[in-house]
Amino acid sequence: MGKVLFVSAGPGSADLITVRGARALADAEVVLYDALADAELRSYAPHARWVNVGKRGFEHSAKQSEINALLVETARQHGVVVRLKGGDASVFGRLEEELIALAEAGLDCEVIPGVTAALAAAAQAQRPLTRRGRGRTVSLSTAMTEAGQLRAANTADTEVFYMAGRQLPELATLLQRAGWPADTPALVVSHAGRPDALSSEHLVAQLAEAAAQHAERPTIVVVGAGGSPLCSNPAPGKPERAA
Ligand code: SAH
Repeated sequence: MGKVLFVSAGPGSADLITVRGARALADAEVVLYDALADAELRSYAPHARWVNVGKRGFEHSAKQSEINALLVETARQHGVVVRLKGGDASVFGRLEEELIALAEAGLDCEVIPGVTAALAAAAQAQRPLTRRGRGRTVSLSTAMTEAGQLRAANTADTEVFYMAGRQLPELATLLQRAGWPADTPALVVSHAGRPDALSSEHLVAQLAEAAAQHAERPTIVVVGAGGSPLCSNPAPGKPERAA
């Protein structure tokens, strides 16, 4: 009976994995991965068998149930199995289904945290997600619902949207409908943490202008306090609060 280590790979570049994650890869006999943004990650587990379970690895888009079954089967046959996931495994990574499958099979596992895309985007653009006095709350949202519908929210000072890259014009409309003023700052970052990262600053009403620049790249949209330019003095009418 083996153990499954869920390893968070970080946002793309191999060196953004954690030391603990890299050590887990070094111990792995098998690595199940979805898509590798940086082939250099393979050098952390050169002797392991690398199995692509992502869209490009299967004839058709792999169903989550097939991945769960493969994970259980592989763990039963090997000592240390790494399930490698992009960004942080606990954020929009279908981790729940895989944890349940392992628990039901009575298999042991561990989750190793990592750098999620929202944090990589903030670092890339040098736009902190929290701001003293203005940005006390941060929300991570997927822009797409399970049924494939676009949703926008206005629940936190800083709202970070995953999976919105293809729908920026529609997101602009929905954000305003959700109550964000048209002139709210919005930051768009694609390939955050990678050598070819791009970031651009917009207003919510003009988010569509970012579409061409970030087309076909994994993209994060940050709206509100964390998406705004650096500011040493709080804006008039927004008195400093203890943060
Ligand atoms: N578990 C991952 C998220 C997977 S969902 C994490 O924690 O980051 C996939 C979405 O993540 C993409 O549609 C995109 O919105 C975002 N994403 C992943 N890598 C990214 C990167 N390097 N730069 C910007 N966005 C990224």
